[in-house]
Amino acid sequence: MTYFDTHTHLPDDCTDEQAEALIDEATKAQVTELLLAGTSLRDCPQNLNIAASHEGVFTSVGIHPLEAQDYDAEVAIPKLREWLSAPHVVAIGEVGLDNHYEDSAPPPALQEQAFRDQLRLAAETNTPVVIHSREAFDRCYELVRENLPADHPLQVHSFADGPEELDKWLKLNTIFSYNGMVTFKKAENIRETLRLVPFDRLVLETDAPYLAPVPFRGQPNASKHIPVIARRIAEERQLSLEELARLTTANARRFFRIEI
Ligand SMILES: [Zn+2]
Repeated sequence: MTYFDTHTHLPDDCTDEQAEALIDEATKAQVTELLLAGTSLRDCPQNLNIAASHEGVFTSVGIHPLEAQDYDAEVAIPKLREWLSAPHVVAIGEVGLDNHYEDSAPPPALQEQAFRDQLRLAAETNTPVVIHSREAFDRCYELVRENLPADHPLQVHSFADGPEELDKWLKLNTIFSYNGMVTFKKAENIRETLRLVPFDRLVLETDAPYLAPVPFRGQPNASKHIPVIARRIAEERQLSLEELARLTTANARRFFRIEI
């Protein structure tokens, strides 16, 4: 039985040795595949190096909406296009819109421009997309519809909207990744949609170093905690842990087009 952490990040200023240790600890916890999700032109190169030198480590490249403050299409898009040709780069992301931080966030127009350009790059290169949508469902969905074909593969990461938004995403070619929030006492809204996601659309993530599951809240999260998250999801979905691991790993490999 092995797990796939479909969305994780290295901590800020992580050395290659620290990254090595995090991957080792994950492997010992049976998390043998993981995807380092890109957030900026600064973190993508390290992710690319680590993915190139570790079996089972993949990466996505992209500019997160909260990293869009200095977005310049002329610099960013050629860089991303170049990185996409590396063999362990399996998606564009995480990209999207984030309306959570009113004052400090990059202006909506700049977030939208970065998102739109990256969706178009995904369409042009036929690359799966990892979506970050926080308090921004309507506009996010609109931009996806406007810039991608209806059957384009999308991962809605850390899904936190309601059943209505879930239904709309389900009409597209989407998968949904759930993280440690499923263990939070107050997150009944997250567990509500978790119970509605079809089994062939469900994958696991940590979103480390954020969102450590209970009982590790307040500590830095890491991919080694996937089994804790998986146990809670298996319980909510009334599946055995083995069955959940098997189907979420198969879904992730299919989505990222990983042949083993
Ligand atoms: Zn993330």
